[in-house]
Amino acid sequence: VDTSDEISDLAQTINTMAEKLEKVEQERYHLEQVRSDFLANVSHELRTPLTAMQGFLEALQDGLVEDEEARQKYYAVMYTETMQVNRLVDDLMDLMKLENNEVNLAKFPVDVADVMNKVAFSFRAEAEEKGLTIKVETEDGLPKIYADRDRVAQILKNFVKNAVKFTEHGEIRLTAAAEEPYVRIQVSDTGIGISQDDLNRIWERFFKVDRGRSKNNKGTGLGLAIVKELVELHDGKWSVESELGQGSTFTVWLPTVGAYRQSG
Ligand code: ADP
Repeated sequence: VDTSDEISDLAQTINTMAEKLEKVEQERYHLEQVRSDFLANVSHELRTPLTAMQGFLEALQDGLVEDEEARQKYYAVMYTETMQVNRLVDDLMDLMKLENNEVNLAKFPVDVADVMNKVAFSFRAEAEEKGLTIKVETEDGLPKIYADRDRVAQILKNFVKNAVKFTEHGEIRLTAAAEEPYVRIQVSDTGIGISQDDLNRIWERFFKVDRGRSKNNKGTGLGLAIVKELVELHDGKWSVESELGQGSTFTVWLPTVGAYRQSG
């Protein structure tokens, strides 16, 4: 028996074990980091509206707001802030359930054009108020997708809500086309656009472009993270293209009914 061989084998094994341990340790550190970032984000997002409400309530309580009109304004702002907290909690719960695989999708054949028209209709008034038009363009004979109708509507709503929010002039277009084995669904706008650096990050939870500048961005930063989870649960794909100052196009591909039949 060649002992030097055995010793080098042993050294090798110890090395591999040390490397594995280090990886586990790094992974653990990473998870810890993700967890504490997450808590910091939740706290920040909750504290912002709560601090505002506290300030207004104190002013009211101290009798500092004398005329009725100003008082009504304070109430209105506080109401908006409570809605913001509610929205955050709703989105957070939804995202957590999706990430923990606690959501059962009710998948059926779905007519995408129909869902698109309904979503577009629900945003029409809000868009027109800003002078924006919403157009829906779908191919004739579009194949049905195999999906959860409400969740497809949720994906579209998140895109259109953002498009309306981040566009001041022009139009928002919802299009759908067959790209077997998928239907490609797009929402494009002529809004402020997103820089290349930020494009990679917008699907992260809580990410909002330039928090400072978009103070009145009443979003939760969770919409696109939810979209990503939903598309994954549908075995679909997503992407985004954008040019600062020109506009953005968000795309998802969702599998057709035929695609599902073939994959059994
Ligand atoms: P939010 O609730 O803030 O809208 P999202 O996850 O839906 O959260 O979007 C994340 C961020 O991506 C937004 O805060 C915004 O900065 C950017 N964004 C999303 N959609 C658009 C768009 N159509 N045009 C410009 N920026 C967008």
